[in-house]
Order: sequence, then structure tokens, then C-alpha cells
Amino acid sequence: MIVMQEQASEAQIEEVVLRLEELGFGVHRSTGALRTVLGAVGGERTFDVGLVEVMTGVSEVHRITEPYKLASRTFKSERTVIQVGDLRIGGDEVVVMAGPCSAETEEQVETTAAAVKRAGAKVLRGGAFKPRSSPYSFQGLGESGLRMLRKAADDHEMKLVSEVMDVSQIDVVGKYSDILQVGARNMQNYTLLRELGQARKPVLLKRGISATIEEWLLSAEYILAGGNPDVMLCERGIRTFESYTRNTLDISAIPVIHKLSHLPVVADPSHGTGRRDKVTPMARASVAAGADGLLIEVHCDPDHAKSDGAQSLYPKQFDRLMTELRVIAPAIGRGICLESTVGKAWAR
Ligand code: PEP
Ligand code: MN
Repeated sequence: MIVMQEQASEAQIEEVVLRLEELGFGVHRSTGALRTVLGAVGGERTFDVGLVEVMTGVSEVHRITEPYKLASRTFKSERTVIQVGDLRIGGDEVVVMAGPCSAETEEQVETTAAAVKRAGAKVLRGGAFKPRSSPYSFQGLGESGLRMLRKAADDHEMKLVSEVMDVSQIDVVGKYSDILQVGARNMQNYTLLRELGQARKPVLLKRGISATIEEWLLSAEYILAGGNPDVMLCERGIRTFESYTRNTLDISAIPVIHKLSHLPVVADPSHGTGRRDKVTPMARASVAAGADGLLIEVHCDPDHAKSDGAQSLYPKQFDRLMTELRVIAPAIGRGICLESTVGKAWAR
């Protein structure tokens, strides 16, 4: 990591970039209010940092020891705020994303979207391409599901997050969705991650079922290294020896990631627990632990849902949770949306 001097000129910065490229590095530039920081990735392990240290305009050169570079706090100390239209993810406000596990019918998507919007969700969630453990389970509606989700998100002035399972789906999901979700099962699909590095949409990267935090950050690194800076990490529970809950939601991952990385962290207590009655307490705990956002499954008729009904909240339960979050978020200095209809009403 090369920190340029405050008064370094553009020509001096370009000279350093050129030299690093000659030395075999890929260079990522980050321009802050005061200085420019260059992240040089690759090169030889034995590279002499002194070669760059002596160049004009260079203030400091540090070797980053974490295996992930662009995702690390060492590379970028201020937190990343992802702008999705007028919505900011990773800023002071906790952003709630909610909706059904899968799009099933126009009516189901519409009713659920209206309910989550009323309660204060800013982003509609919903899958059209579903990664199911069994090939005999409902696999999602594909493009027609995306169309329903887009329409409901537009009608209720929300953004949309939807899953892309494969490289071949990036175009179609990107056409309808504002945020591209990479599911837990695909966290190590490196071909997909590389392609998403070229996408011009933010990516919500779920933690793999048995992934360590370091592996998860390395997956984020694939997307960042590909040129897409807008990655948010989503803790959705990991597989442990405990079988009472579907997964074990690793709440400690939230402060750990915030220490190691500048990327926003979203918590998904729905997949994290698999049980409706456990979603609310874990959502409260996630916000208290500093999550920048929540991803919550809500269904207008969860008892007849085609996927993940047992973990989907009834709209009434979601309303109540949002009311509680409006007490918890300000207690730790965060805001959360007060009203759905006007964007300006924030509780602090
Ligand atoms: C989902 O969000 O519905 C989903 C399939 O999530 P995960 O990849 O975390 O299992
Ligand atoms: Mn689901």
C-alpha cells in the first residue's frame, strides 16, 4: 500500500502507478479527501519496498500482511458507503431489506412488498433463481419472477436485491435488480465472483455455509480486484454441531469484519436461525452488534410459502420488529427509517 503525500501531483501519482505496473503489480487507486492511496496487488514476494519509497510524492509504503488486500482496513481505513440510487448502505442508518424468500405470484409479491414498505423496509428482497438443496424443490420463477419483483419495488419505491446463481444469469438479474445477491452456496464460485467484478451493480455476498471470515473476505477480494468496489458482506449463519437451529448466526462476525474490513455488513437472521420465532431476537442483536443492514424474510402467507416458510415473518411480526429496531438503533448511535412514505423521517 502506497500512501502519497498530500501535495503529490497527478504526474507524480501516475509515475508511481507506472513503476508499480512495470514491477508486475496490478494497481488500484483510492482517492481520499486529502491523499491518494495506491493498492499494489501481486508482484514478487521479495520486492524491495524501498524502490517505491524513494519516489517523489510518496509518503509511506506498507506491506499488507492480510491475504486480502483491497477488502482490508489497512488499505482503506474509512468505511465504505455503497450508494444505491438515493440509498446509502454502510452509512449512519441501518438499512432493512425484506420480502419473501421467493417470488411466487404477482399477488404474493405485491402484498408482501406493500407490507414491508409500510413497516419501513428500504429494499425489497426476493429470489427468482433459487439454490435449493433438493432438485425436486421449487426452483424459482426465473425472469417472470424478476419482473414481478421489479414492478413491486417500483410501485412501492424500494430498491431490489435478488440472487444470481450463475454467470449466465448476471445480465437478466442485473436488468431487474439493484443489488446482486451471491448466495451462501456460491461464495466460492470464483468464476461468478470474477464476473461480478465487472458488473456495475453492488453485490451482496453471503457467507458460505462453512466459510471462515478470512475465506469470505478473500471472496469479496475477487469482486473488488475485478474492479467493482461496491461489495457488502452478509452473515447468514454457518454450519456448526448445533442442530436446534438451521444454522448458527455468527453475530461476532459483525464486529470482526468491521475491524478487519471497511465493507458494510448485513445480517440475515432468517437463514441464520431457520425459525420464525428466533428471527426477531437475532435481528435485534445484529443491530445492537453494529450491523449496517438486515436481510429478513417476510411473507404475506408464510404457512403456504413455496420456500423457507418456517423462517418467514408474518407482516405483523415484521412491523413489531421495526418498531423495536427504532429503539435499539439510536441507542448505539445509528439511525433507522421511521416512516416508509417519506424518506426524510429518521430516528436518531
Ligand atoms: C436466500 O436468501 O433466500 C438464500 C437462498 O440464502 P442463502 O444463500 O443464505 O442460503
Ligand atoms: Mn430463503
